[in-house]
Amino acid sequence: ADNKETLGFQAEVKQLLQLMIHSLYSNKEIFLRELVSNASDAADKLRFEAINNDALYCDDHELAITVSFDKAARTITIADNGIGMSRDEVISHLGTIAKSGTKEFFGKLSGDQQKDAALVGQFGVGFYSGFIVADRITVETRRAGLAANEAVRWESAGEGDYSIEPIEKATRGTSIILHLREGEDELLSTWKLKSIITKYSDHISLPIRMAKEDWDDEKKENVVSDELETINQASALWARSKSDITPEQYEEFYKHVSHDFGAPLTYTHNRVEGRSEYTQLLYIPAKAPFDLWDRNKRGGIKLYVKRVFIMDDAEQLMPTYLRFVKGVIDSADLPLNVSREILQESRDVKAIREGSTKRVLGMLEELANAEEQDKKDKYTTFWNEFGQVLKEGIGEDFANKERLARLLRFSSTHTDSTEQTVALADYVSRMKEGQAKIYYVTADSFTAAKNSPHLEIFRKKGVEVLLLTDRVDEWMLSFLNDFDGKELVSVAKGGLDLGTLEDEAEKKEHEETEAQYKDLVTKMKDALGDKAKDVRVTFRLTDSPACLVADENELSGNLLRMLKAAGQ
Ligand code: ADP
Ligand code: MG
Repeated sequence: ADNKETLGFQAEVKQLLQLMIHSLYSNKEIFLRELVSNASDAADKLRFEAINNDALYCDDHELAITVSFDKAARTITIADNGIGMSRDEVISHLGTIAKSGTKEFFGKLSGDQQKDAALVGQFGVGFYSGFIVADRITVETRRAGLAANEAVRWESAGEGDYSIEPIEKATRGTSIILHLREGEDELLSTWKLKSIITKYSDHISLPIRMAKEDWDDEKKENVVSDELETINQASALWARSKSDITPEQYEEFYKHVSHDFGAPLTYTHNRVEGRSEYTQLLYIPAKAPFDLWDRNKRGGIKLYVKRVFIMDDAEQLMPTYLRFVKGVIDSADLPLNVSREILQESRDVKAIREGSTKRVLGMLEELANAEEQDKKDKYTTFWNEFGQVLKEGIGEDFANKERLARLLRFSSTHTDSTEQTVALADYVSRMKEGQAKIYYVTADSFTAAKNSPHLEIFRKKGVEVLLLTDRVDEWMLSFLNDFDGKELVSVAKGGLDLGTLEDEAEKKEHEETEAQYKDLVTKMKDALGDKAKDVRVTFRLTDSPACLVADENELSGNLLRMLKAAGQ
């Protein structure tokens, strides 16, 4: 046709397509899960837009996904009557990757298929996974609210470019037509498609339909009839009772809501009754996403009201420091037409946020305090992936500060390892007799912390010191003054008081030494003038001749450096 245009994919899409086809082949069935997941999202989006504009339904209220195949044409079609896409939406959603961190992602690719497959998983697979089994994909779509002649056909062989042209489409929604690659004919079977859908997509809350197959006595084989049947349970997974949900279903549901490829670390599923009534199904991912540090990143909680999807990134439902949590919250109290503004002020939302925060902390405590090795290992994984984010909670969530402090893990001179495994409670249990405080040192790197001259006296006396090297540590410590009644103090600050750890004989010796060097100290003070506030004889060093310390009430050197770097 005259109006057909050919456009090029964004460079990253080309790379992703290559990678997808080669590295995920051994897992090719997931293409169907991804396309069904998109169809389900499209239905959610329509339901939400229609809350304020019922006309979008055009008398077709029964949202569903239909999966069919054509043996002769060697195609599989996944059709939905969801929101659909306009021409512009097709170009931006199917021709580019909007995700932040895309560049970094492609920079990490190693060319090693197995490693890269794992990376693709973290990145999310999505629509392009269709090209694992198809050498051509046709998308026909009509956005809700647009006329039949405003529909669009998109087509691509998954290489450098795609074509796009206007078409007539009688019904709203999207049909994805996969033209199968050579050798994929096994997929052209009701039984095969049904079994893939049951395995990966049973949790989808809308009906997934396929044509029924009936036994034909004459042909002596099953023939596909015109009648459709629903092949999934077609009810919201989170609304089912826990005993009816298998671990595999929980896992597949996680992949759908999180757009993650891997299994979650752990999850919690509860119906909460009382002041506020809601259901929560919350997951902790096993891997941090690429955009964990992106401030504009969308939250991970989908809000539903009485099973109706309301919004994707309801950041009010979870504190910022738990932004990695994924899942669904379904409220029985909020109005369907709830807006972000209402969410901000709602008391129900506040109750939900507090309740959900407690659940997440409970989930983490269960791993952190477990006796079983596999749970302990999970906490280690969690800490390595998300520990730095959790630390933000110390400064953000005063109500849960105590609980959060118990979840913190550090490096320390006890292990002298970069692995952050030491809990504050472990530290306290190892405190020396007469030791009243928890000591820490902060630095830019583990090596710098470990070799800090400030540590010499502590090592000599066998007193453990926490080695803090994460960017957020100093900020966090400004909110964490004590733990378990013990003050947290920097070894780099002021007149170090090792208290009763110093014995009488030592004290006397120190006084004598100070007297002996009095003149030298005076001379040095004069020489330094304004450059130093004070010059003191120190006993905290054993090998180094001198060190700089910050005043008790001043910012430490490391924090000063950080603030300077941040342009303050
Ligand atoms: P994701 O689902 O993680 O956003 P995908 O690659 O699966 O990424 O899909 C890309 C985008 O294409 C979706 O976000 C959506 O906007 C659009 N899209 C894909 N499939 C459909 C569909 N069936 N109906 C409407 N929009 C769709
Ligand atoms: Mg998707």
